[in-house]
Amino acid sequence: MPSRLITRIAPDVGWLPVSFTNVYFLGRPGGKWIVVDAGFPGGAREDLAAAESRFGSGARPEAIVLTHGHIDHSGNGAALADEWDAPIYAHRLEVPFLNGKSAYPPADPTVGGATAFLSRFLPRLRRDLGARLRELQSDNVPGAPDWKWLPTPGHSPGHICLFRESDRILLTGDAVLTVNMDSWSALLSRKRELARPPTPFTIDWGAARASLKELAKLRPNVICAGHGIPISDSDLPERLENFAQNFRGPRRGRYVFQPARTSEEGIVDLPPAPFDPVPFATAAALFCAGLALGAGYLDEKKRR
Ligand SMILES: [Zn+2]
Ligand SMILES: [Zn+2]
Repeated sequence: MPSRLITRIAPDVGWLPVSFTNVYFLGRPGGKWIVVDAGFPGGAREDLAAAESRFGSGARPEAIVLTHGHIDHSGNGAALADEWDAPIYAHRLEVPFLNGKSAYPPADPTVGGATAFLSRFLPRLRRDLGARLRELQSDNVPGAPDWKWLPTPGHSPGHICLFRESDRILLTGDAVLTVNMDSWSALLSRKRELARPPTPFTIDWGAARASLKELAKLRPNVICAGHGIPISDSDLPERLENFAQNFRGPRRGRYVFQPARTSEEGIVDLPPAPFDPVPFATAAALFCAGLALGAGYLDEKKRR
């Protein structure tokens, strides 16, 4: 199977979607380059093949920089770092969830929507990216001197975005998306629209709103999000401004009225888990289906 190719967003910004999550490559072939986010586990081979076809065989990045540590963004981090012998950078408040100290606050499946439904099937594990993990310092992006990172907490405690002033390209991770992950049809059609962070994994909606307002102030020309096709329409700064002004979290959910609190040590405290009726409804439906099948079987037996 031919490997997927990196799409050029700018001469030195490449985009590679790997199973619903985007990986970005900053830098030109022949020069220094870095990787932003590492994709869902299992995609390392695809990332490596694409990087090789863009930067040449044996080329290695200066660093892997994570917008945050959720598994769909960091999943191949350790495998790629080993292969490239490269450091992995994340914000200090994201580190306890990447060095085995703590699992992330649990997902909230009760917020509703497509991703919330799917979140019930994701195991909640502590993850350790190993000795190559480093903390980001100041606002410099290691290996990409014309880029800056800015803290954008809310979706996760140490979430960051990357911005380049000269052409106003903004890499938003999960702080703002370009596909509505609450909608099954949008997920399948990949319709491009500004959309809120993945709802079941967002642990502080007030902070997410404040971060979005900071992003709108940057007036980006291009938004390259963690999920969805990048957007570069001419009215993007105004659209982002409107989106930030009118931004609302979900109507209900575990972290909607009270955030999860975390520190450099991991979870400090969590709002109580709301009642989730779906597993019970599913169990009840299976039970009823079982009864119906059992009754049918007995009927069959009687008739014989
Ligand atoms: Zn995330
Ligand atoms: Zn994500």
